[in-house]
Amino acid sequence: MFYNKTIETLPLRKLRKLQNERLVALVNRLYKKVPFYKKQLDEAGIKPSKIKGVKDLHKLPFTKKIDLRDNYPFDLFAVPQNQVVRIHASSGTTGKPTVVGYNRKDLRIFDEVVARSLVAAGAKKGMKLHNAYGYGLFTGGLGMHGGATKLGMAVIPVSGGMTDRQLMILQDFKPEVICCTPSYAQTLAEECNKRGIDTNDLAVKYAILGAEPWTETIRSQVEAGLNVTATNIYGLSEIIGPGVSQEDFEEKGTGSYIWEDHFFPEVVDKDSGEPLPLGEEGVLVFTTLTKGAMPLLRYWTNDICSLHYDKGAKRTHVKMSSIKGRADDMLIIRGVNLFHTQVEVLLDDFPELAPCYQLIVTRKKTMDEVKLEVEVALEISQELGGRGFQKKDLIVKLTKQLSRKIKNNIGLSMQVELKEFDQIPRSIGGKLSRIKDLRKLK
Ligand code: ADP
Repeated sequence: MFYNKTIETLPLRKLRKLQNERLVALVNRLYKKVPFYKKQLDEAGIKPSKIKGVKDLHKLPFTKKIDLRDNYPFDLFAVPQNQVVRIHASSGTTGKPTVVGYNRKDLRIFDEVVARSLVAAGAKKGMKLHNAYGYGLFTGGLGMHGGATKLGMAVIPVSGGMTDRQLMILQDFKPEVICCTPSYAQTLAEECNKRGIDTNDLAVKYAILGAEPWTETIRSQVEAGLNVTATNIYGLSEIIGPGVSQEDFEEKGTGSYIWEDHFFPEVVDKDSGEPLPLGEEGVLVFTTLTKGAMPLLRYWTNDICSLHYDKGAKRTHVKMSSIKGRADDMLIIRGVNLFHTQVEVLLDDFPELAPCYQLIVTRKKTMDEVKLEVEVALEISQELGGRGFQKKDLIVKLTKQLSRKIKNNIGLSMQVELKEFDQIPRSIGGKLSRIKDLRKLK
């Protein structure tokens, strides 16, 4: 029922005391060890001694994704390089990724919060975990792997993709638990149905889904299609990775527990940054209370949700609602983060193209698809425009080059279509909206 019952059910008063102590130590340490934070606090006129507990958190400035970019790759590390034992990265707003580092203690914390999450999701020691999150720079695969190992599960590190092999493993290895993105769980469910795989012949009972937004309708489809109980896992690499919060399998629909002894959450107004009361929707902000290598103060996640305490629940920790959207324009495509600015920097390398483009996102069945429309420069349009434009040699060549560049740099396949100059519709006022997200998550 619990992985760490004492902490998971710690009375709120004691939890606050622990958080206060941890925060005070953290602020002092960051002030001494990380020049960025010394500057932030000095500029805001705050002495570390002024922060006596989480009640004072609102006095501190936020840390944003752009701060990680400005300190790329390692300048936010609070420990010497030789104490860093793992480095992960996720998409940044431009070509450069957001880099995060872990020391040994951080990996222990990561394992602990993932182990707690697995147990809350229904998993137990001795069960097998089919881990279909991607392994690599992304925190999903290795993060779930470490926690499951710590819990005493047998991990099957399947990683993403290759659906045939995934189905074979589900049938033959008989894992009781699967973790993947919700859209991939839908794909697996559909494939089972198509191929006449009887889910009663599978052992899988619990699905742990996250890394992208999803809905109750998706939950019903996955639960019916795979014959499982599906719960939400939430996380982001800047805070640790998956396992920042997790829904309990017997409390479905009531929100996901944030492991707040490690990650202190706030919800703030997206425009003013003012903290909002429990229950109100705003931007989720986290302070990592215990991390060693790269702790962050008031990290602005851009995820929109609300927080509440669930009095009758199994655990005392605060719960977050499902994510209602993002305050920035980050897209999540097949579990991969994408900012339109990442595409924009690649276009700079093509003098034949105009900086006028649009990303159109659709979901065909359970697969997200992205189409990039880009206008060519005026001169090229004047020279090659008119009938047969798409088939002209130069246009075909540029289309291929750009698709390849996107695949190599961003890691996503996109359909690319070049347009004549001024052919992408502008909205009133002449502004070109960079993103058209036509997916309907219902
Ligand atoms: P990870 O490597 O763990 O996916 P990233 O930093 O790449 O972390 O992406 C984190 C972002 O993914 C979050 O800020 C959020 O927008 C999205 N995300 C992760 N889990 C969920 C979830 N369960 N529901 C909705 N969005 C999620």
